Amino acid sequence: MDFDVIVVGAGPVGLMLAAELRLGGVRVAVLERLPQPSGQSRGLGFTARAAEVFDQRGVLARLGTTEVSPMGHFGGVPMDYTVVEGGHFGVRGVPQDRIERALEAWAIELGVRVLRGHDVVDIDPTPTGVTVVTGIDARQTFTAGYLVCCDGGRSTLRRMAGFDFPGSDATREMYLADVVGRQIRPRFIGERTAEGMVMSAPLGDGVDRIIVCEDDRKPSGRSTPDFADVADAWQRLTGESLHGAEIRWVSAFTDATRLVTRYRRGRVLIAGDAAHVHLPAGGQGLSLGVQDAVNLGWKLAAQIRGWAPDGLLDTYHSERHPVAARVLRNTRAQGILYLTGEHMAPMREIMRELIALPEVARSLAGMVSGLDVRYDMGATGSEPTAPAWLGRRMPHRPLVLDGGPEDGAQVRVPDLLHHGRGVLIDTTGDDANVRGAERFAGRVEVVRATWAPVPDGLEPAPKAVLLRPDGYIAWMPEAGELTAALSRWFGAPEADHLARAAT
Ligand SMILES: Cc1cc2nc3c(=O)[nH]c(=O)nc-3n(C[C@H](O)[C@H](O)[C@H](O)COP(=O)(O)OP(=O)(O)OC[C@H]3O[C@@H](n4cnc5c(N)ncnc54)[C@H](O)[C@@H]3O)c2cc1C
Repeated sequence: MDFDVIVVGAGPVGLMLAAELRLGGVRVAVLERLPQPSGQSRGLGFTARAAEVFDQRGVLARLGTTEVSPMGHFGGVPMDYTVVEGGHFGVRGVPQDRIERALEAWAIELGVRVLRGHDVVDIDPTPTGVTVVTGIDARQTFTAGYLVCCDGGRSTLRRMAGFDFPGSDATREMYLADVVGRQIRPRFIGERTAEGMVMSAPLGDGVDRIIVCEDDRKPSGRSTPDFADVADAWQRLTGESLHGAEIRWVSAFTDATRLVTRYRRGRVLIAGDAAHVHLPAGGQGLSLGVQDAVNLGWKLAAQIRGWAPDGLLDTYHSERHPVAARVLRNTRAQGILYLTGEHMAPMREIMRELIALPEVARSLAGMVSGLDVRYDMGATGSEPTAPAWLGRRMPHRPLVLDGGPEDGAQVRVPDLLHHGRGVLIDTTGDDANVRGAERFAGRVEVVRATWAPVPDGLEPAPKAVLLRPDGYIAWMPEAGELTAALSRWFGAPEADHLARAAT
């Protein structure tokens, strides 16, 4: 095989996945049809959970200055996202090309081969590997143990690999343009007019992003409209003329909503927009895909390196498919609230009243920010009586290290996850826990520490937690035996693994 894994598509999801696979110690190439990055601004930010995921790998710091927006909306109804712990509406004002450049640089540093100018035109999956063919005239062939399709919403690999992609076709079309040198009043969460919705936000350097959605505009099938049509629509809705403006980028998007039925077909897996498309309400698409990548990377690497417990790779589908289905539901609901005419005004009013209720705001903020994702960590994790933190992402809690060269230093949990391995944080001083985890050397790091005091109102962290490489809590003392959780997620202890490999 040329590589352990071939990832097709150097969008944010393909690049993140490739880097995760390298952290897991496998050989990976990304095949990308574009000779150089597209430079398109597209998504302008990411959700609170995606920010945490980037932080866990040190990528957030590579994005330069970023700002979080505490206030956001649900379907155009303003909402405070700080009602959930660690919550915000997302990191905003970071054009997608900046994210892609940072991810590509990081992936290459880790040893990913990013091969540009390779348009994948054919694949041949077999029970033992996959052959991938690129190019039309000058064909080139690559082989790998696994293939992951990260080739975006218009994926051709999805069809080649035989993934079903049910859902609903587009019912409406929206325009987008990055306009240079015009004074455009910001409408950060959008503004409804009698005939539609407009949104605008400064991107810096005198460029503004505008989005126009006319209630009755049916999909035309064109992905690149004429700017004159965009300016006409903007003028109809706002009365302002942008005709003749210089533009950096113009595009159209729709509310088509589809999700593959399986995330894996044998040796072919799928992630990001290739697996799910939806209205970009609340800036959730890139964020959802990046979390697919962080869920899949360590599991696929474990499978290839031979230590994956039975069924680990299948949890990629069982964990991520329901999360995507929920995002599709919330974006459809937001589209109905946000982008439909006057007949929906009473519903918007009711939503305004409901969102004022803390419990409703917490539920919606948890959903859109991705902070409420909870995975099944086994029998205890699926029961209603399961400990509240089990299966959830580890929230922000500073630690003071106990022993080792950095004894007494204060650290943040995300910094302990940069290497992409599991982490046992133990504040009990119980040697049995530590000895148990040390048998998984190379897959689980052990950190002895004490939790720093937390501000009033925050729940103290469990006395010990086992974190998976993606930052989700796989075990805490109230959840039964640590050894069971270690075996469930990290396979056989090192000595058994080596003995098995030798026979
Ligand atoms: C207007 C708009 C605003 C958005 N705002 C946000 C936001 O604020 N926050 C957010 O989280 N998301 C947002 N999104 C969604 C986000 O842009 C996408 O979810 C994200 O780009 C998906 O990343 P991806 O890597 O899965 O696919 P893509 O970014 O589409 O990348 C796919 C890559 O595969 C390559 N490729 C395709 N076919 C082949 C082939 N046959 N061979 C080789 N290479 C191939 C393509 O060239 C491309 O580079 C927005 C989307 C739109 C349209």
